[in-house]
Order: sequence, then C-alpha cells, then structure tokens
Amino acid sequence: MSDSAINDESVPKGRILRGDLIFAATLFVTAIAALFNILPGTGVLGGQYSWGAALFFLVFGLFTITMGYARPGFGHVSFDRVAQISSVLVLGPVDAAWINGLASLIYPTHRVWKGVPLREVLIAMLHNSGMTTLVILSCGSLYVYLGGPVPLLSLDLRIGGLLLLLMLSMQGMNDGLMAVMMAIRKTDPSAMRNIFSVGVELASVPLAILVAIVFARMEFPVFVLLLFAMSLGMMVLKQYAEMRTKLEVLVDQRTEELRLKSLELERQATHDKLTGLFNRRYADDFLQREIENSKRHDREFTVALADLDHFKMVNDNHSHAVGDKVLKRVAKILTNRCRKTDVVARYGGEEFLLCFPDTSAEFAEQICSQIRSAVEKMNWSDIADPINITISFGIAEVGVNSRRTSILSDADTRLYQAKHKGRNRIVGSPAADKSS
Ligand code: GH3
Ligand code: MG
Ligand code: MG
Repeated sequence: MSDSAINDESVPKGRILRGDLIFAATLFVTAIAALFNILPGTGVLGGQYSWGAALFFLVFGLFTITMGYARPGFGHVSFDRVAQISSVLVLGPVDAAWINGLASLIYPTHRVWKGVPLREVLIAMLHNSGMTTLVILSCGSLYVYLGGPVPLLSLDLRIGGLLLLLMLSMQGMNDGLMAVMMAIRKTDPSAMRNIFSVGVELASVPLAILVAIVFARMEFPVFVLLLFAMSLGMMVLKQYAEMRTKLEVLVDQRTEELRLKSLELERQATHDKLTGLFNRRYADDFLQREIENSKRHDREFTVALADLDHFKMVNDNHSHAVGDKVLKRVAKILTNRCRKTDVVARYGGEEFLLCFPDTSAEFAEQICSQIRSAVEKMNWSDIADPINITISFGIAEVGVNSRRTSILSDADTRLYQAKHKGRNRIVGSPAADKSS
C-alpha cells in the first residue's frame, strides 16, 4: 500500500486523532526541510529537462493517485508508484520529490467539495505530501548515490539491482510510515494487505522503468501510446474492482434475502399463520418422538386436547374477524401459561394440542385448570361486547403401551366427555370432572 490509501474515503470518520494531525504535520515539515536543505546542490530542473517535464510528471502523478482505490477484496490499490519511480529515474530525486509531493498535496482538496471536514482534508494533505516527498527524496537519493543512472539510458544487472533496491527501500519506508499512522488511528493493519494490491505495486516498478526509458529516449509517439495504454489499463482495473465490489454486495444481499426466506419457509412449515403456534404437522412429529423418548427413559408425559366452547356462535353472532382475534388471544394465554419445554399447537380450527414432557397428569391438569380459568375470566370487551369464551380439555397420560393415535384418541374421548358434561371443564385420567 502507498500513500494513496490515506486518500481513501474508507478511513472511518471521527477516527482522526490529535496524534494523527501531529504526525501528518511532522511528516510535511520534515519533507519541506529536507528539500530546502538539498535544493542548493541539486534538482529544480537544472538538468536537461524543462518545466514542461515537471508539469507532465505533476499531472501524471495526480492521475496515478486518482486511479488508486480501496475496496474489500482488493485492498488498498495504488498506482502512484509508477509516477514516483519514473520521475526519480528521469528527473532525479529532488525534482521527483517536490513534484510528486505537490501532486499529493493537491489531490485531497477535492474532498472539501465532497463535504469532508476541512480538518480531515488538511491532515490528508500534510500526510500525503510529507510522506511522498520524504520517501522519494531519501530512497531516490540513495539510488543516485549508489550510482543509478539519471536519466536512465541503459539496463544491465547492476542497474537492475539498484532498481530493486529503490523499489524495496521505497516500499519499506512507505509501509513503516503507514504503520505509524495506523497505530495512531488504531486501525487493523492486516486489513490493508492484499495479494491484489501487492501485485499491482510490484507491477508498478517495471511500468515505471518503461515510462522512464521511453521518456528519456524522447520517442514521443511511443511515449504517448505507452501512457495511453497504461492509463486505460489502470482505468479498466479500477472499473473491474468497482464492478466486482457491486456484485459482491449484491450477492451478499441476495444471500441474506434467501436466508431470511428459508427461515420464513421453515417457520411456515412448522407454525400456524394466524396464531403463531406450532401447527398440526409439527405437533404430530413432536408427539411421535416424545412418546418414544418417554417410554424408553421411563419418563412421564402428558398431553391435553383443548377446544373452545360454542365457538361457532362467536363467528355467527359477531364476525369471523372477531373469531380470529379471539383465537389469537387464546393462543397467547396458552403460551403464557405453559412452560418453555411444553409444546402448544393449533391442532384444528379452534382446537389446540398441549404437550407436557416430563410432567405428570396431575400437574398438567393444574396448568390446564389455570388456562381454563384465565380464558373464562378474560375481558374481551376490546374485541367484541358482549362475549363469553370458555374452553374444555381432555387429558391423557402416556403409558407403556401408548401410541400416538391411542393417546390422541384418549384425549379426544375425554374432551368429548367434557363437552358432554357441560363444557368449560377438564376431564382427565381417570375420567373425573374437574370443573370449577
Ligand atoms: P363446541 O363447544 O361443541 O366445540 O362447539 P363449537 O361451535 O366450538 O364447535 P364446532 O366444531 O361446531 O365449530 C367450530 C367453529 O370454529 C366452526 C368454525 O367456523 C370456527 N373456526 C374454525 N377455524 C376458524 C378460524 O380460523 N377462524 C375463525 N374465526 N373461526 C374458525
Ligand atoms: Mg369448539
Ligand atoms: Mg372443534
């Protein structure tokens, strides 16, 4: 990663710390001081290149920074190393430093128009330009000091080694300064490294050498062609990253939608839509499993069938909508009175199946009795007036020879008895009238 990462909008807002500003300002001042210290000796286009060349590298530098981006999956991708290294090779370290430093200073200004606070823009400007200038000045000077040709007219093994040194020293210094910044901002450095961005940065070096060679040899049409092809390549890469990122976001969205949909389908397959209780299919499966479990582990297990009394009259005297509201409220009473381990299901229209694992018939009857009384005492006036709702129960306990059908049939028989005896009551095993 290089300094264009600092330009990135992904840097979280509000994370800019006082230490960040101090670090950015220190970088900037140090870079300026180093430049002024060296200026009298070398640079400022004392060689064969003109201010036109300076302007070209300034624009080229700005362009390569603009082509940088940060996307999840791509990391922080920057192309500015192409301009930096090519200008070191063509113009020498001093001119390359101030020209690229200037480009880095100019670049963040566009963020002011995007509404980024001035303070953050200022920090990015100081940081970018200070860091770029320092990296190019020091590493470029080392390259020249060790004997790198400027401008570059020939390539041999020695120059290859020097170029490698230039690349590695720039990368090392750059990453060192970035690490300090990340430590100050407390961002996770591992998120910044990515094989794609490293690949682009490595490819920047031969590209930069190519730019320098063609520029130095003044083959102008070839140079224009090279820049054209390179620029297109950078733009295509950026566009590709953009497209893939959009696609990934879309895939994530669709995956989430599918996950929610399948959760919903799963719920629909096991739950009743009106009341939200378990449905008959779920209750039958549960019953089958739990009966076997109870028999194998010699545990108590009781079930109850509950049915609303004269419910047809509620529909007839009021409306089906009122009947629905009553059903929903009864469902709430049932779930509130039963325990988390019990299963409450809507078994038919206004018929409910209650499963009480690890529960004796006596205790299940107590729970049913509380439910019966809660339904009877419920104030329904907000739904319809006048309206009285009662509920009857038939209870059956699992025995050694019980099967699902026999248990249900026992419960149903007792429910019928409860109805027959006047409704609003519980008939358990042994058949005893538990009305209150
Ligand atoms: P009993 O005391 O003998 O149980 O009398 P009942 O009127 O409750 O019995 P019946 O089985 O004759 O009637 C049940 C009624 O429940 C008939 C039906 O219209 C109504 N019902 C069934 N499902 C729904 C529903 O989803 N919504 C509404 N509003 N009514 C329903
Ligand atoms: Mg009924
Ligand atoms: Mg019924």
